[in-house]
Amino acid sequence: MGFFWGLFTIVLGFLDSSVANGLRPKDFVDPSGNKIVFVDFQEVHHKIVFDVAKSSAEFVTSIVFKSETEGAPVFDIVDDPTAVELDGQKADQMLVTSPDQATKFRVVTRKLRPGKHVLRVAGTITRNVSFGLGTVKSGFFMTDLSDRGYTERYLPTNLEYDQFATKMEVAVVGTQKRHTVFTNGAMLPVARRRANVFAIAYPEKFTTSSMFFHLGPEEAYDTKTGVFVSKTGRAVPIGVYRQAGATQDLERYLNVAVKELASLEEIYGPYLHSNVVIYAFGSGGMEYCGATVTSLAALSHELAHSWFARGVMPGHGNAGWLDEAITSWRDDGFKKVQTFSGNRPMADGGDYKRSTDSSAYGFGASFIGHLHSEVPNFFDFLRHMIKNRSWYPLTTEEFVNELSNFTGRDFRPLFQKHVYRSPSERARRIYRSTPRVPNPYHPELTAEQERRML
Ligand SMILES: [Zn+2]
Repeated sequence: MGFFWGLFTIVLGFLDSSVANGLRPKDFVDPSGNKIVFVDFQEVHHKIVFDVAKSSAEFVTSIVFKSETEGAPVFDIVDDPTAVELDGQKADQMLVTSPDQATKFRVVTRKLRPGKHVLRVAGTITRNVSFGLGTVKSGFFMTDLSDRGYTERYLPTNLEYDQFATKMEVAVVGTQKRHTVFTNGAMLPVARRRANVFAIAYPEKFTTSSMFFHLGPEEAYDTKTGVFVSKTGRAVPIGVYRQAGATQDLERYLNVAVKELASLEEIYGPYLHSNVVIYAFGSGGMEYCGATVTSLAALSHELAHSWFARGVMPGHGNAGWLDEAITSWRDDGFKKVQTFSGNRPMADGGDYKRSTDSSAYGFGASFIGHLHSEVPNFFDFLRHMIKNRSWYPLTTEEFVNELSNFTGRDFRPLFQKHVYRSPSERARRIYRSTPRVPNPYHPELTAEQERRML
C-alpha cells in the first residue's frame, strides 16, 4: 500500500458543507467509555486500482471532515480496512454497535479535538467485483432494504445524513482491453493516451446512497442514447445499456423513460438531475440519483424515485419509508384512502436505523393515500416539497412539519398514531407478527444474483 500512499495527493477546493440540524445521530459513549461522535465530511477522494493481472481491487480514500465535539469520529465501510491514518499518523479503527443495536459502524479509536481533520483509509473491494480474461467488472450496487447497504459496501463513507463532494479516480491496469464506466457522476477529462483511467466527480449534494458506478469491458455492454426534453426546455441526455446480447429492448426502455419522465414532471415538477442512466437488467430495480438498475416493468417506479428518494432524500432509515410510500402510492394510481387504521412504526426504528421498513410499500402507500384524502391540494404539497426540500436529507419530523405548515393543520397526531411506535401492546404485536413482504420493484437479491448483475 505504501506505493499508493505516496501517489496520493489531495487537490481539494474546500466547500464548507454542513449537516442540517436534527439529522446527525446522537453522539454516545460506548461500553469502554469512549465518546463516539458523528462528523461532517467535507470532501472525499477515492483512488481505486483494478489490477486485472493480479485480480485485485484496492482503494485509498482520503476524507476531509469537520468534527464539532471531542471524541472518536465515526465513518463506515463494511469490509475491514487494511490501513487507517488520521492527520498523517497511523491510527486504529474498530467496529461499534449503535446504542439501539440497529446498526454497526466504524470509529477511529482516537479522541479528536473539534476542527478539521484528514482521515485516510486503504482497503480492498471484494463485493461485486469479477475478473475475467483481461477484464474486470465492478458495480457499486446498493440496497435500502438491509443495514449498511450503500457506498459502505465498497468504500469508506459516512451515514446517510451527510452530504459531501466525492472525486473518484479509477485505473484498470494489467490489461489492454478497453473498459468503460457507467455513472451518474461527471466524467472529468483524462489524457487520451491513458485508456482505462477514469476520473469522476460526484456533486456535494450527494449522500452515501446517491452514487452510481458500474465498470466493465466495453465489449460487454450494448448501449443506446436518447434525449428527454424537460418542460423547462433543458435537453437531458439519457443513456440506456444492457449486457451484450441480452434480450432487453433498449429502444423500448428509451421510449418508456421519455414518456414516464414527462408524466412525472407534470405531477412533481421539473426533473432534478443532470442526466438519466438506465441499466436494463433483471426483475425489479434500485434507484440512484438520476440513475437506475431496472427491469422494464419497474422503470416507471424507479424513475419516480428521481423525485422522491434521490431528489427529496431520506436523512436516515426512519425517513426512507416516505419515498417508498409516495412512489408505491403512485404505482397504485394515486388512490384516496378515506378511512385508515393500523400502526407500523416505520418512522420509529431507533435513533440509528439505516434501512427502510418494507411496510412502506403497502401500509405506507395506503397512509399516503389517506393523506391525499385528508389534504385537498396534496399534489401541490408534493410539488412544494420537491421545489423546496430537494437535495436536502429529510427526516419524517421535517416532512410532518412541512405538511402542517402547508395546510395549517397539525398532522403530528395522525403520524404519531400510524407511523410511530404505538403505546398499544396489541398494535406492537400486530407489527411484529406482520410478515415482511418483498416489493416486486425492489426484490432483495442474493450475493450471486448481484454478481450476475455485473
Ligand atoms: Zn421504490
